[in-house]
Amino acid sequence: MVNSDERCLLGCGNIELFFFYHHPASLSKAMGLNHHVRGSQMSQSDSVDEDVQAFLPDQDQLHTYDDLTKVNPVTPTTVLKCLQARYRMKVFYTHAGCTLVALNPFQSIPDLYSLDVMKEYHCAPQPQEFKPHIFIVAEKAYRNVRSQLEPVDQSLVVSGESGAGKTWTSRCLMKYYATVAASSSVLKSQNTVKRIERRVLDSNSLMEPFGNACTLRNHNSSRFGKYIQLQLDRCQLLVGASVQTYLLEKTRVSCQPANERNFHIFYQVTHQASTCSNIYIFYCLTEDCFQDTVEAMDHLGINAEKQQQIFRILAGILHLGNLGFSSSVDESQPCNLDEKAKGFLHRAAELLCVSAEDLQTCLRVQTLRAGKQNMLKPCSQAQCIVRRDCLAKLIYAHIWSEFLDVYGFECFHINNLEQLCINYANEKLQQHFVAHYLKAQQEDYVSEGLEWSFIKYQDNQSCLDLIEGSPLSVFSLLNEESRLNRDSDARALKVRLEKELCGNANISWHKFSQVPHFTVAHYAGKVSYQLEGMVEKNKDPVPPELISLLQKSDNQLLQQMFSQHQTENSTKGLSKVTVVSKFKNSLESLMKILHATTPHYTRCIKPNPECKPLMFKKQEVVVQLEACGIVEAIHISAAGFPYVQLPINLSGKCMQNRMCLTCMLVPSIVLHYFFFFFYKLLNFAFA
Ligand code: ADP
Repeated sequence: MVNSDERCLLGCGNIELFFFYHHPASLSKAMGLNHHVRGSQMSQSDSVDEDVQAFLPDQDQLHTYDDLTKVNPVTPTTVLKCLQARYRMKVFYTHAGCTLVALNPFQSIPDLYSLDVMKEYHCAPQPQEFKPHIFIVAEKAYRNVRSQLEPVDQSLVVSGESGAGKTWTSRCLMKYYATVAASSSVLKSQNTVKRIERRVLDSNSLMEPFGNACTLRNHNSSRFGKYIQLQLDRCQLLVGASVQTYLLEKTRVSCQPANERNFHIFYQVTHQASTCSNIYIFYCLTEDCFQDTVEAMDHLGINAEKQQQIFRILAGILHLGNLGFSSSVDESQPCNLDEKAKGFLHRAAELLCVSAEDLQTCLRVQTLRAGKQNMLKPCSQAQCIVRRDCLAKLIYAHIWSEFLDVYGFECFHINNLEQLCINYANEKLQQHFVAHYLKAQQEDYVSEGLEWSFIKYQDNQSCLDLIEGSPLSVFSLLNEESRLNRDSDARALKVRLEKELCGNANISWHKFSQVPHFTVAHYAGKVSYQLEGMVEKNKDPVPPELISLLQKSDNQLLQQMFSQHQTENSTKGLSKVTVVSKFKNSLESLMKILHATTPHYTRCIKPNPECKPLMFKKQEVVVQLEACGIVEAIHISAAGFPYVQLPINLSGKCMQNRMCLTCMLVPSIVLHYFFFFFYKLLNFAFA
């Protein structure tokens, strides 16, 4: 079905990268960026540290530091030593006031997550007196829901950079809720829970190959956001679930950062084809198990015929990746397909069930509207490539949303619009933490008459105003420019931003830079964003010829996926909905959920970039702690009431109202890095 040349699109030359990690420092250097990068300061001897021994000579004293609020004095150094000492003794969870710090062990610790341990935490009158654990957070949220104290809805916010353990934590939480939310006495309830758990896990098995890829930081990095809703009945028994995903990094389909891979599914499909036809064999990862994907599809009710259609489309996308164009000498003529690409064109057309001639035309010729007339204009070589990639991304994003209900979003590894959106989301989430915890907690102390001198924390509101504010902000000016029907000019946009936003101290410009850009002082550091191409990205245009082509496909699935487009286009005309306005709206709805709930924070920490068990690199960890304001949080919690008691009354009272428990997985701020770390937004909602 596919042959070895199809690997172009996959960047298969990079497969071996899985077995080593590039440090981000090298990436920044390669890009000429002179930012604070933790790696450059790392000491290789971090893992053996006499200081730590001095800090905690007696292992029996370990429990004294179950909460970092007990460390005295609270400084980044003492907090770090404490965590390091605990990590060395294989203690991976530590309270930090309102936050749970979870250090990634990078090795299996089966006894830590067994059913018995779950039961212990669930049944304990005061689970918080047990060793710190993610189950304490889960149980606390669950008891809050049961107690029906307002706000009944709870959110579990799990943050951490790529590879820190967010997905792992989400699985633990899911297992925990599936276990505690089943009635042990009613068989029917147990069966239902098993079925629901299976379904959630199956959907995960399907989402991972389509939405995960190997990145420099994580073999199996999710490149999308996830929202899972588990439904409880009035007696808190699990009765249903739904899974939603959004924010797929669709750019990865056509272009992967150096030494990273495309989505696993392409390797699975190609590997499957190669093993069937003996064309070639290449090294595969455990994530590349095609059979698991097929099984998950079976379980989720995607029948064999539909599966075949999906795999054909994926193979078609792979063939598209091999279409090269030579530049045309005569501008009035379309540029030609490379000689060797002709076979791929026919194969791609065959697999996508469209006419090869139509496919070629829509990649090489654009239709311009002049008044009531249509004019045909040959595309330049660069335009042909953009259209080819656009077609590949468009189809992939539709397959994804057809089966996994996503909101598409793309990303490049140079800081541009996508990185700005990601860091904007980080700012918003940090603002929530600041407003909800650092600010509110201190105001509470004062109102309760506690003698309190305010602990300074960094309020990032002015940075948010700069990005999203009204009437003048980066987003509003960008949208204004995107809605004008003219080619964008990065230099002119820079002048406009400078003129309108110079009053905000969070924005600056490198005086001597030749590249149009702006620099934002985010709460975790400064980041420069290139303006070249930003307006175009914000418009996210899809040539209508590509849509028409796919609407004419004989592949039922493609036809069905794109028929929707017709209605959208005809009713709304040219879309004025920009990428940033869509992003802002989806973030707003997320923040609304968060604001209406009691949050519980878990911060996953990646102790070393090599993902090695029991290796603790101080500089690596301290940057992650600083990025989320954990030391300030410990200060505030230490001075107040470090423990908030769990509601004890668990008389199993049934509730009349609907309730909701939200779990979100969010990434840490990633500003020191100039490649993409994706958000994870997972939501359990108990309705
Ligand atoms: P993220 O979702 O933050 O990118 P993951 O949850 O995928 O990161 O974690 C990366 C890897 O770290 C996992 O594949 C797993 O091997 C390991 N890991 C994370 N948390 C744990 C844990 N609590 N126990 C054992 N291994 C873990």
